[in-house]
Amino acid sequence: MTLSQKKLTIEPKIGRIFLTMARDIVIQKFGGTSVGSPERIKAIAKRIVNTCESGKGVVVVVSAMGDTTDELISLTREITETPDPREYDALISTGENISAALLAMAIQALGKPAISLTGRQAGVRTESTHSRAKILTVDTQRILSELSQGKVVVVTGFQGFTEFDDITTIGRGGSDTSAVVLAASLGVDVCEIFTDVDGIYTTDPRKVTSARKLESISYEEMLELASLGAKVLHPRAVECAKENGVKLHVRSSFEDRVGTLVEEAKAMEGNRAVTGATLNESEAEISILKVPDHPGVAGMLFEKLAHQHINVDMIIQTVEENQINNITFTVGIDDLNESVEITKTVAQELKAEGVVFDDNISKLSIVGVGMISKPGVAAQLFKVLGDLGINIRMISTSEIKVSCIIDKDRGRDALNAVHEAFSLDKDS
Ligand code: ADP
Ligand code: ASP
Ligand code: MG
Repeated sequence: MTLSQKKLTIEPKIGRIFLTMARDIVIQKFGGTSVGSPERIKAIAKRIVNTCESGKGVVVVVSAMGDTTDELISLTREITETPDPREYDALISTGENISAALLAMAIQALGKPAISLTGRQAGVRTESTHSRAKILTVDTQRILSELSQGKVVVVTGFQGFTEFDDITTIGRGGSDTSAVVLAASLGVDVCEIFTDVDGIYTTDPRKVTSARKLESISYEEMLELASLGAKVLHPRAVECAKENGVKLHVRSSFEDRVGTLVEEAKAMEGNRAVTGATLNESEAEISILKVPDHPGVAGMLFEKLAHQHINVDMIIQTVEENQINNITFTVGIDDLNESVEITKTVAQELKAEGVVFDDNISKLSIVGVGMISKPGVAAQLFKVLGDLGINIRMISTSEIKVSCIIDKDRGRDALNAVHEAFSLDKDS
């Protein structure tokens, strides 16, 4: 077995292969907007060819062009509401094939040899859970062989294949994770994520105009922000980068300037309690009503959801009357239908009164390692919302974050007010 065939351990702890070549490889990931048109693909190709002048081998990971993945998903809905998971992945993975092949052609047109590889060809083995498969191993042999022939290797993000040789996808926004897993597998220290903003901001700059670009951010804080809905990075990409010591450099596809580094926390600087804020507008709330209050009820419900790999976020249980509870929890909007179906079967088994859901909610969160040592941060957040007359429907906290579920129509006002109240627009 050669080094390149070494099987790696489960995501996010991808075992690193230390090749003498590793320091001579650059990994660059380009997102959907960045490859959104033939003109943009040609512009990126030029940039990649310039990078090649450094003499380094270049591995590029691409997302599908623009809204292609959404369009493919809509197409399945015109056929069936319950597509076969294998065929669903076979279809929605194809967007990346188009952008990878077009980018390889654009690089070749500039006189530089290039080759596109699918997830299968790039050796990206995953679990068999379709649509949200975790990457298990990467066999880098083919990538290394193409690099050694002087080619730019363009790999489709988002895709993998199972032990039965079926195509899988790794979750929406997953191309970031594909890139980081490749960086870890190839022993590359920095993974460059090129996107349509020029770095990580204190909050989504499309929602708050005074959002401020950060020079760097710790893995922990970025992981919270990404998990709480800052879609600039896929949470598993941050987790995998942290576990494998890969720095992320998030930067603009359109302008050549330094972006934001995601790396180990630096010594605590300044007096800031909050580093960033998010507003997740893609969650929904499900309640199972009037459930008998006996041991094992919550375990049964959440075990069934976990079995389908559905991530449940906030959970609250309220006492409705003696020995009768309501359980309310939130899930991602994409998992809503499946979660409601599962919850209904559990409700029937438990003889609960019924199941209701509401997707008119948003989750507002603040994140910062500084809040560990500063009491009163949550209280300040609640006061800002109270002053705006915004009702808090659910709360959850961890050492470095506070989240509130609020009505969707007040989300943007709340985010702007919170950004200002915690002086996130100011440098220090
Ligand atoms: P790509 O297609 O390149 O993967 P995404 O659309 O997934 O790009 O992520 C980039 C988007 O993330 C930006 O356009 C921005 O609106 C959004 N975003 C959310 N939170 C942040 C943040 N804190 N900093 C920067 N961008 C953010
Ligand atoms: N094309 C996939 C998606 O839209 C993966 C990605 O863009 O990262 O979710
Ligand atoms: Mg993305």
